Amino acid sequence: MSLWQIIRRLLPFVRPYRSLVISTLLLTLVGSLAAQVNPFVLRYTVDTVQGLLNRGQGLAEGWHMLLWVSGLLLGKELINTGITFGQKYYGEKIRISVSGALAEAAVTKILGYELGFFSEGGNQTGKLQTRIDRGVESLMKLVQNFFIDILPLFANAIVALVVMFFANKWVGMVALAVLPVYFWLSYRQADRLNGTRRNLRSLREEKNHGLISIIDSIVVIKSFVREAYEGDKQLAVQDRLEEAQLSTRRTNFRYDGLKTFVEQIGVVAIIVLTAYLVLDGQISIGAIMFHILLFNNVSAPIRQLHRIYDEMNEALTYAEGFFAILDADDQTERPGPLRPAHLYGRFELRHVDFTYPSGTAALHDVSMTIEAGKTTALVGLSGAGKSTIINLLCEFYRPNGGTVLLDGQPLSEYDTHALRQQIGLVLQKNHIFKGTIEENIRYGNFAATQAEIEAAARQAYLHDQILDLPRGYQSDAQQLSGGQQQRIAIARLFLKNPPIIFLDEPTASLDAIATEQIKNSLDAIKQGRTVVIISHSLAQIVDSDCIYVMKKGEMVESGTHLQLYEKRGTYREIFDASARSLNIEKLAKTMADDGDEVLDTAL
Ligand code: ADP
Repeated sequence: MSLWQIIRRLLPFVRPYRSLVISTLLLTLVGSLAAQVNPFVLRYTVDTVQGLLNRGQGLAEGWHMLLWVSGLLLGKELINTGITFGQKYYGEKIRISVSGALAEAAVTKILGYELGFFSEGGNQTGKLQTRIDRGVESLMKLVQNFFIDILPLFANAIVALVVMFFANKWVGMVALAVLPVYFWLSYRQADRLNGTRRNLRSLREEKNHGLISIIDSIVVIKSFVREAYEGDKQLAVQDRLEEAQLSTRRTNFRYDGLKTFVEQIGVVAIIVLTAYLVLDGQISIGAIMFHILLFNNVSAPIRQLHRIYDEMNEALTYAEGFFAILDADDQTERPGPLRPAHLYGRFELRHVDFTYPSGTAALHDVSMTIEAGKTTALVGLSGAGKSTIINLLCEFYRPNGGTVLLDGQPLSEYDTHALRQQIGLVLQKNHIFKGTIEENIRYGNFAATQAEIEAAARQAYLHDQILDLPRGYQSDAQQLSGGQQQRIAIARLFLKNPPIIFLDEPTASLDAIATEQIKNSLDAIKQGRTVVIISHSLAQIVDSDCIYVMKKGEMVESGTHLQLYEKRGTYREIFDASARSLNIEKLAKTMADDGDEVLDTAL
């Protein structure tokens, strides 16, 4: 993206604040004109004092001039204070508002994108956040530079230069001659810093990431006694960071020194020239101070050039990544027209092929029917494509080939929100939001009353455990154990109370007692609803109305438990392996012995 393209993209975000931008610019222009008052006043003062001395007069004749000059300077300074405040405050207001609008635009866009967007390389959680942060930050600086700083800065320099030329063209030319050198040095400085800054930033991120990673993996580090190894790794990053920081400072100080030197050459040249012109009788003595102060007004704004150049470079680097987030319109979820108030939940997959955006082929020619009001189980080894089917049924992704029908209509014809309102999804690991237990359960239905929340928690066998916590429903949900967090997800499902339920390993992280409790609850909620369940636990699938067996992205067998068992195919293999892993024979023998004992006692 070129600078102009970026500015054009920024305009809609700045436009709502255009009156603020114009007022800020006006204020700054007035400020830059006010800055030229001092040289004039000083010239007048020096010349008047000189005149008084030449006439052999003193304080008695000059005091009213001094009073007048002090009043003028203080009055100007008073006005200047107001102007500076207004300029800074409104400038900051524009920056903050525009950056807020940019961040908001990114969040709104992201929320509307399909899941595929998030699995693309540059869009994974951390990277996306960095792209937004850096984009907003660099664009904010660009807004500051382009809409607030540049014009007044240059106006100030140009006004001062023009005044110098008008006062004396030779002095003006000396001032003008210094500028190209100054520009060139600023450009070199920004160019040199461009690389080091980026390096510095990535090292800072690496260091922060390293620290977070240490804290996250502290148990593993300690259990493998790898403290020294991790410490060395972090130290190496720290060393590189220090070196980069010093090198940045070195470059900065070197160029700052050079620029000050060039500026001083200009000052010396102006002093010599103006002194010569005074001695030659061409200008008054007051003009020496006049020109030096004006020259300061010329060079002061230009001192900031390297910063502006640097920040524009930064914007050029990061703006493209940021606007790409706003522009991924082809990945926006496009809701279809169907918004039925009630769904029966009969899904039909016809020759469905699906490959994830990352390129992993997950489903090949899958055809199956999920009957309304029945429980359908998906069975297969890990990676067989079971969760992918649920992803397609929720319309998180769209198939690459074939069709998915719901209640006889293509799934893509449904409004995604209306569809998902009627689907309850419980995963193996469910997200718990930062907040209280109550807030987390309420996520299932914002309109729920406290009594309904408690009823849902009871159904998920969570209520009693919550009451045991010191702060009850107001406890921090993220502090709960994995099993308790799972029950929150199930409570959310009860609260949402949808006609269609997808369960992807809902009890995988629960202990045996909890699994039994949750199974009972789920059995109760299953009645009359369409349920699709994925589970490695045979107990949860044997009484399903229909079982589909998946293998390497294909549907290889289907039927009831008994039909599939008799078939002696993939299902039977999985069943036998599960039975062996459970050591079913020994368990059965224990239970039989126990049964005999009970029988003996009874006899
Ligand atoms: P299962 O649920 O049967 O264990 P999945 O449906 O999760 O299997 O996965 C099927 C295949 O798709 C696997 O190869 C897996 O690595 C891949 N896969 C799953 N989710 C994603 C994703 N979000 N992005 C890319 N590939 C994925």
